Amino acid sequence: MKSMDLLFDKSGAHSGYVGARDQELPEPFTRQELPLPDLNEVQVVRHFVKLSSMNFGVDSGMYPLGSCTMKFNPKINEETARMPGFAGLHPLVEEKEAQGALQLMYELEEYLKEVTGMDAFTLQPCAGAHGELTSVMIAKAYFESRGQHRTTILVPDSAHGTNPASANICSFKVQNLKSDEKGGVDLELLRKAVKEDTALLMLTNPSTLGLFEENVQEIARILHEKGALLYIDGANMNAMLGVTRPGDQGADLLHLNLHKTFSTPHGGGGPGAGPVGVKKALEPFLPVPRVVKTMDGYGFRHERPQSIGKVSSFYGNFGVLVRAYTYIRAHGPELRKLAEDAVLNANYVLEALKEDYDVPFPQPCAHEFVASSTKQQKNGVHTMDIAKRLLDYGIHAPTIYFPLIVNEALMVEPTESESKESLDQFIAAMKAIAREAEEHPELVLRAPQSTPVGRLDGVLAARQPNLTYEEDLGKPSEKQKTGI
Ligand SMILES: *Cc1c(COP(=O)(O)O)cnc(C)c1O
Repeated sequence: MKSMDLLFDKSGAHSGYVGARDQELPEPFTRQELPLPDLNEVQVVRHFVKLSSMNFGVDSGMYPLGSCTMKFNPKINEETARMPGFAGLHPLVEEKEAQGALQLMYELEEYLKEVTGMDAFTLQPCAGAHGELTSVMIAKAYFESRGQHRTTILVPDSAHGTNPASANICSFKVQNLKSDEKGGVDLELLRKAVKEDTALLMLTNPSTLGLFEENVQEIARILHEKGALLYIDGANMNAMLGVTRPGDQGADLLHLNLHKTFSTPHGGGGPGAGPVGVKKALEPFLPVPRVVKTMDGYGFRHERPQSIGKVSSFYGNFGVLVRAYTYIRAHGPELRKLAEDAVLNANYVLEALKEDYDVPFPQPCAHEFVASSTKQQKNGVHTMDIAKRLLDYGIHAPTIYFPLIVNEALMVEPTESESKESLDQFIAAMKAIAREAEEHPELVLRAPQSTPVGRLDGVLAARQPNLTYEEDLGKPSEKQKTGI
């Protein structure tokens, strides 16, 4: 196939696209051919099929990326999200033309209320961090409505990094709270820290150490006594589904990550949905519009004088909402089993690896645990090397160097999707790497050897990505290896 002709003006700048007849071309223009590759269909198909298999995904192998809940995404979610009535619906159609979509949003809010014990939800936020920001804005509006000027947000050092960032964006002062020796909130420190100007505590539960906070009710009591609020970062609700509810533990606000707990492919930064749930007293401040059910069906309610306004265009990432709805409906009361299996899988792997790796908090974990490569360091092997070597074993790396409070952290979240066979395969690979680190550290230090490109200069690869693809790209080019 020949490339289409383009019009260029005298300066050579592109000025328009014409499928026109030659004689109609105005005089100052000349014809020039676009420098497109001349390929046949089979070459194009092979090129893209090859490219599609060069990356790693949940569908190609185990993906134990801590704090990300890279669970299997059932394909039925994709079918429902692509139903023409949902996928083709214009956000500006009349409410009566969008009854199905509105019903789905209304019912999803009801399910999330049931799962979390909160009184009302908004589905607008488009990511976890966006849900945090929305929550902090709601809390701010709540205090302003009561004539209170509260300026400080408390954030434990085991919180997700987005928590202090969200507080900061909303102009709050962030006060860090050091964890106690078991990795939980230090109640004595908390009692001293909560003052008249404390707006809220942002508590990631389970924490980024994979530990369930044991004293949530007491924490809520301490805050409420001083008129402050408890916000729960529920991005990792996977460990609590159907087992316990933040709303019953005293939470005033929380956000969920539908794209983690309730499945949606979310590698590489999107798409997401970070719904926010609140208790009754905070409901008037939720973003507009709210989805309501009336005698005539479903609709939007826009007039809410105390609302913080809109936090996204239209109604959030609707496709993610359809996937979460499908996931909840498909599992029903069995949701609890997901949480139980996620916790069982994480503890199974934790126990199996305790001998080979340092585990700074060795008590039973929730949905994930944090190990460390401090033992391997004496042979010059670091967490980064272990993560790279896992790729040679066909497994995606765990989250590394996070949380920051653990030296050389390796944060493992197997999720409930993995079979015992794949967990055993992961354990065997981790044990083999620990052995290699002892006997042949060079094998680990040179990894990965089996991937389309080898060890990259991470900083350079992010700043100046080399996206060229060559037919015989079996190993990293000199440029990719050295970053020069
Ligand atoms: C993933 C995560 C977030 C951030 O979610 P995004 O959708 O990436 O913005 C916040 N808190 C916790 C605990 C998380 O695991």
